[in-house]
Amino acid sequence: MGGYPAAIRASQLGLKVALVESNKLGGTCLHIGCIPTKALLESSELYHRVATRGAEFGLKAEIVGYDYPKIAERRDAVVGQLYKGVQYLMKKNKIEVVEGKGRVRDRSTIEVGARQLKAKNLIVATGSVVKTLPGLELDGQFIVSSDHAVLSSSAPESICIIGAGAVGVEFATFYNQLGVKVTLLEALDRLVPLEDDDVSKELLSAFKKAGIDCRLGVKVSGAKKARGGVSIETDQGMSSADICLPTPHRMKGSSPPRTSQDSGWRRWTSS
Ligand SMILES: Cc1cc2nc3c(=O)[nH]c(=O)nc-3n(C[C@H](O)[C@H](O)[C@H](O)COP(=O)(O)OP(=O)(O)OC[C@H]3O[C@@H](n4cnc5c(N)ncnc54)[C@H](O)[C@@H]3O)c2cc1C
Repeated sequence: MGGYPAAIRASQLGLKVALVESNKLGGTCLHIGCIPTKALLESSELYHRVATRGAEFGLKAEIVGYDYPKIAERRDAVVGQLYKGVQYLMKKNKIEVVEGKGRVRDRSTIEVGARQLKAKNLIVATGSVVKTLPGLELDGQFIVSSDHAVLSSSAPESICIIGAGAVGVEFATFYNQLGVKVTLLEALDRLVPLEDDDVSKELLSAFKKAGIDCRLGVKVSGAKKARGGVSIETDQGMSSADICLPTPHRMKGSSPPRTSQDSGWRRWTSS
């Protein structure tokens, strides 16, 4: 356990606690991970259910559509509310939040700008940042990271997602439910390769039924901008889409973009 939960626990156990954060309290999970993705999925799931099965459930709706900027607004509201909650928890637990990039100077000293914090115990919980694959340079417009996709305020018409781990299948579900044409490329021979084989089989069957083009055992060697979209090079030929989203495992590091303003995300035309 790291980050703010550790700070709260340490304080509850009677220690004087300072928490150094260079970005926003709550980290990846709250701002560009678990929480915003679940908020997005809730919108896409609801839209998809009503659009495809509304009549079956006795619903009458002349036009079922979605408004991506509103989806994004709700996502930001959910994150914003929880963010306030985390800030409140810091005050409630008398944790001093020090804004800035921390540097471990020695066994008992953290440097934050000109300030030096002394402590008997240090917890380093600096998390991870997105990474890409060789030959796929992130530009935030055509070749994008999960940070960009999470913070976007529009959806593309087609997307090629590389990697069928948790993040890849989550985005495949989200975009597919919104009616985006999704191609999912996975180098190994099954979806969610870290899960049990049965889970992979069930998911593959559900994805195929949903119309997601799942291609397994495909190795991607590069991608480049081509005719208003991206052309993806694989050992089984070329693939193309408006946007390409590589989702390899993250790497340790810090300071990813944390708002839709600083993500450099191209505004797609909403469908
Ligand atoms: C798209 C996506 C969806 C996800 N969905 C889920 C999910 O549904 N369920 C789940 O369990 N997990 C999910 N995850 C994973 C989850 O977000 C991470 O496992 C979790 O955030 C890791 O927490 P952490 O505290 O280790 O690191 P982080 O959340 O990355 O926090 C590290 C913090 O340290 C700060 N920092 C870094 N360096 C410094 C420095 N030098 N000085 C000061 N501060 C610094 C950073 O700004 C950051 O706030 C998802 C991840 C992504 C990307």
